[in-house]
Amino acid sequence: MRIGIGQLWQETNTFNPLPTTRADFEEFGVLRGAEIVAQLAHTNELGGFIQSLSAWPEQPEIVGLVRLPAWPSGPATADTFAWLRDELLAALARAGQLDAVLLALHGALVADEHPDVEGELLTAIRQSIGDQLPLVATLDLHAHVTPAMARAADALVLFHTAPHVDVFETGQRGAKLLRRMLVDGARPVTAFQHVPVVFPAERANTERGAGLSWELKQALIALEATPGVLSAGLATVQPWLDVPDLASTVLVTTDGDARLAAEHCARIAEVVWSRREEYLPTLVPYDQAVREAFEHGPGLVVLGDGCDATTSGAPGDATAIIAELLKYDWPRPALAALVSPEVVRQLEAAGFGATVDVQLGGVRDTRFSKPLALRGTVEKLFDARFVLSGHLARNLPIDMGRAAVLRSGAGRQVRVVITSRSGPHFAPELFRAAGLEPREAAVLVAKSPCGFRAVYEPIAARIIHTSAPGCAPSDFWRYPYERITRPLWPWDEIAAWQPAPQLFSRFPPHPA
Ligand SMILES: [Zn+2]
Repeated sequence: MRIGIGQLWQETNTFNPLPTTRADFEEFGVLRGAEIVAQLAHTNELGGFIQSLSAWPEQPEIVGLVRLPAWPSGPATADTFAWLRDELLAALARAGQLDAVLLALHGALVADEHPDVEGELLTAIRQSIGDQLPLVATLDLHAHVTPAMARAADALVLFHTAPHVDVFETGQRGAKLLRRMLVDGARPVTAFQHVPVVFPAERANTERGAGLSWELKQALIALEATPGVLSAGLATVQPWLDVPDLASTVLVTTDGDARLAAEHCARIAEVVWSRREEYLPTLVPYDQAVREAFEHGPGLVVLGDGCDATTSGAPGDATAIIAELLKYDWPRPALAALVSPEVVRQLEAAGFGATVDVQLGGVRDTRFSKPLALRGTVEKLFDARFVLSGHLARNLPIDMGRAAVLRSGAGRQVRVVITSRSGPHFAPELFRAAGLEPREAAVLVAKSPCGFRAVYEPIAARIIHTSAPGCAPSDFWRYPYERITRPLWPWDEIAAWQPAPQLFSRFPPHPA
């Protein structure tokens, strides 16, 4: 038995003016063939695939196809789309005869002229491998799932969690489903339902033990454990996607039982629809949030800056919150992070200990951010390389390029960690790579709307979700979208809505 595994991972934010190119994928780390199994056996979904497949009694041969990852950012160029398609199809051609294909996708990748990248590519892959081969793909909870994706794949297996702490496990679930097809003869039928709602990420927290998102996660996990059900998921889509048919999606895949799939799918979609108001967060304006952090006293206050979240595809060089931090005389370090290759080069040229005047930020995001004039001391020059675990990742190597710490502010406690490339600007691993310990800080700005909670809840005295200017605003429906299909909540009030799931399957129903 030979099983091909691969990955295409990027989350697009169409508000971000920076295009995603082939170079962004190559910089993050393209791998081909046996390199995938050799290097990623313990990392993210691919690690979940590899560990699971290795444990099958059938001992399948794991055939590495290609791994194509890029950090969340603006839309890919049309050339990049063509290159991604060619890479995937060439990898399949190189692999020779396979018995199945298992892919780790994000599901919200948009390219110029290609609003549904994963739908187009899964369709191309299905055409390449033919109608007989099982094809299973995993997706992020923020995927924009489309009928084309559901039609091409036998099953789409979604993360159940946000913060995404089940990335590896989702890989294992994908492999398990594939085994039920290959070994047990399962014949997947998927009920697919778009729900005309798009939610801010802040309240989509499945991990707090209370609230709608947690309840839905529990329901999906329980459903997936039900006999006859192969997978169940809810994608509360990445909101900053100006593409046709943007919507949240419920997917339920059963073994040959279309009625069971449709019933469960409609039931969950109805809950999501009827309780949609519960997803609306209350955010604290950033100036007030910084003041509250200053007045808090002992312990770490973490400010979630969802609006410039690099995990949401924002450019990561918004400066409004940093400007606010500089107004206070902090008793302990005040930590923030930002992308600026130009300033890193300037600080490197000035050298360790130098006092430098810089224009910080407002270069990548010229729409919502403006440069901040700042005088500071070069406190550290380093390579922003580390291994990320927690939200988004298990054992994921990250390289944000050359980086620097600029120390500034009234009491010289503000430390801005400046990286050459985008990346997880929320991560404690980034601050620790910079020699800064989050536990000892008074305040830390995490560029993340929700995922940061997974790593900071255990160590923060207080967490505040802030609103500030940026490409990933929480109140996105107040911004101009041109391509989304209306009506869509919360852009529009919709008087009545009824689920009517579409069914997808390559197989005829099981004989009665
Ligand atoms: Zn996500």
